[in-house]
This record gives sequence, structure tokens and C-alpha cells, in this order.
Amino acid sequence: MKNNFAFLFTFLFSCILLAQDTYLHCGKIVDVQTGKILTDMTIVVSGNKIIKVVNGYVAPINPNDIEVDLKNKFVLPGLIDMHVHLENEFNSTNYDAKYTDNEADVAFASTRYARITLMAGFTTVRDLGGSGVNISLRKAVDKGIVVGPRIFAAGKSIATTGGHADPTNGSSRKLMGDPGPIEGVINSPEDAVKAVRQRYKEGADVIKITATGGVLSVAKNGKNPQFTLDEIKAITATAKDYNMLTAAHAHGDEGMQRAILGGIKTIEHGTFMSEETMEMMKKYDAYLVPTITAGKEVAEKAKITGFYPEIVRPKALEVGPQIQNTFAKAYNRGVKIAFGTDAGVFPHGLNAKEFGYMVEAGMPAKEAIQAATITNAKLLGMENSLGQLKESFLADIIAVDENPLQNIKTLENVIFVMKDGFIFKSN
Ligand SMILES: [Zn+2]
Repeated sequence: MKNNFAFLFTFLFSCILLAQDTYLHCGKIVDVQTGKILTDMTIVVSGNKIIKVVNGYVAPINPNDIEVDLKNKFVLPGLIDMHVHLENEFNSTNYDAKYTDNEADVAFASTRYARITLMAGFTTVRDLGGSGVNISLRKAVDKGIVVGPRIFAAGKSIATTGGHADPTNGSSRKLMGDPGPIEGVINSPEDAVKAVRQRYKEGADVIKITATGGVLSVAKNGKNPQFTLDEIKAITATAKDYNMLTAAHAHGDEGMQRAILGGIKTIEHGTFMSEETMEMMKKYDAYLVPTITAGKEVAEKAKITGFYPEIVRPKALEVGPQIQNTFAKAYNRGVKIAFGTDAGVFPHGLNAKEFGYMVEAGMPAKEAIQAATITNAKLLGMENSLGQLKESFLADIIAVDENPLQNIKTLENVIFVMKDGFIFKSN
């Protein structure tokens, strides 16, 4: 009996000793919901959660609690990017990589991109398509093997034969083969059902389709519709069975309309969106994910001879400069906006440049920040745990030097990053 008491005492004592909370002394907190600045606050983090947000600078209780001084910083919830590709980063040699790189090569590189993304303050991302390494990367991050953001992965995006994301585009006929639903290429509603179920089986969280041609694929047209309405409906209905969010890459208007009518939730890029389609977006409660940064990048790089293959270059010059204009029109018309960049088309870690482009196009800084926090958390079904600094929310917290509501570009220089209660970056 005495021994039992001794054990219990030692156990409780060591629990108290081991309990380690983090007290963040925040000079200014940006309340992303109201756009107000809260001054002199303490956020208390225990485990992976925020347990208290209180007025004043509260001193830690236990000797081994951590105190973090952010008294002259602006503190915000971790940012969320709805459109990244963590498996690669575009350069002029990318088109050869699929013939030279093995999965392990892709995986090693992806760990670097994941780390850079997290250090830039993006604590959650939606990876909209790769080879499936993105699913393994998510697992490695969750296990703590790799440093990176929380990932919602699409696995391989779903295309049609010859479409944007047909993995054998541009190959010789000998290597082309005939990829099917397992490889993410469909040609009927039946194929569509199987392709979604296959993604689910492989562990994907979300479904991405390439509803129209794209800029960087080795194909002539960057705008043509590439799915029938029936194929899209089969995809969204099946995705719904598995509670998976759906996203459609789309530049051309016809393919975009089919995606919206077919029930796709987020339209990526939206480059040549007509006013009629903007109204359709509102009616069907679809969201535009602008990816202006990617548009700027491809327009710029297309000026360099040889950076892209000649078949890609005219598409980049046509699509790239248009994206920001369309975003401005869609925003003014009341289309809902979710923050997303297409990082990987441009170097990872520069995701926050998108904020500057959104504000430049007429969106108030407060709304641009909301798009990357509250809106994205809601789309991911995480509105009760991500996107705000509130009690019982996950402890994803970042800090910057200046007030982002006045200088949005300060978000390009995040100086403190906490994800899931762990500090990954700090002065
Ligand atoms: Zn993309």
C-alpha cells in the first residue's frame, strides 16, 4: 500500500514537472474575424492547442513553462494556402525530370519544399496534385519525420486522355501507353467513379480535376474543356460519398461552367471567367482560388527563350497576365475568394506574395487575410480548429514585424512560426 502511494506521488510529481505550457506574450494580435488589433495579450498553449487567450502579460505557472516574447510583434493565426504542389518546383529542366527522377528523388526534394513553406508561415496547405508522393509527405509530416505544414493532399489529379495532368503527355508513342483511372486518367463517368475511389484508397484527402487545358502541360490548348458534364457529376457525387472536397483547375470559360454545374467547390485560376460564370459561381456557392502569383511567374518566365518548351510559351504569355484582372472582376462582383497560390509553379516559400497582388487588385487587406485563414479553414472543414486564435483551436500561430492590415507585404517576412504547439521558427 505504502509503495503504491509512493508510486502515485512520484507519478503525479513527474507529470507536473513534465507539463510544459507555452506563454506567448503578444504585443498585438490581429483578430482576423473583426479586423481589430488586440493589444498586450497572452496566448497560453498546452500540447497542440490554445487553452487561453487573455488580456495582459500573464506569467507562466510552472518552472519549465516557456515564455515567448512577441511584445513588439503582430500575431496572427497560421496561414492556409489552398493550392500548392509540394512535390516539385518549376524550372527549365522539369520536363525531363519525369524520365530521370525516381519517386525517392521527388520525395527528398519535397521535404525541402515542405520546410520552406512552413517557415514562410503557411502552417496548412492543400496539395493539389502530384504523383502521390504528396500523400506520403503528409504522413511523414504527421509522424514528425519531416518538418512541414499540415497537408491536405489530392494525390494524383484526375485528367482525361491528353488532358492537363495526363502523365504521359509529350512522351514518345513507345512510352505513352494508355493510362486509366488508376493512374488518374478517365474517359467516362464509370472511369470517373473508379478514379475517385482509387484516390480514396491511396489516402487522398481531396479530389482535384483538370477541367480545362493548362499552361505548363505539353499540349497546344490551355483553355479547352476536357471533361463532359456527366464525368464531372460522377466525380463530385463519388467524392461526396467519401466526404472529399473537390477542386477544378480551369482557365477556359466552358470547362469552368461545366465544373460549377457539376458541383465542384473551388475553381482554381479561373483565368477567362465570364460575367455569366461569375454569377454561376455565386449561385452554386463555388469559390475562386486565384493563384495570381503563378500567373505573374509564368508570364515573366515565358519571356526567357528556352525556359518553357515552345508549345507552352504562347499559353503562358496569354494566361499569365490575365489572372489578376479576372480576380479583380470576380471579387468586385461578389464571388467568394479562397486564398491559393499554385506554389511550385514559382519557388516555394513565396506564397505570401499573393496577398500583395490581391490587395493591389482591390481587395482590402483584412479580407485577403480572412481568405487565407477563416475561409480556407471552413472549406477544409476545420473551422472549429484552424484559422483563428481562439481557445481550444489548434496552436498554429505566426508573427510579423508590422501591422499587416496597413502593410500587407509584412506577411512575406514571417519571423515566428508555431504549428501544433511546436515552435519551428523564432528569433
Ligand atoms: Zn496547380
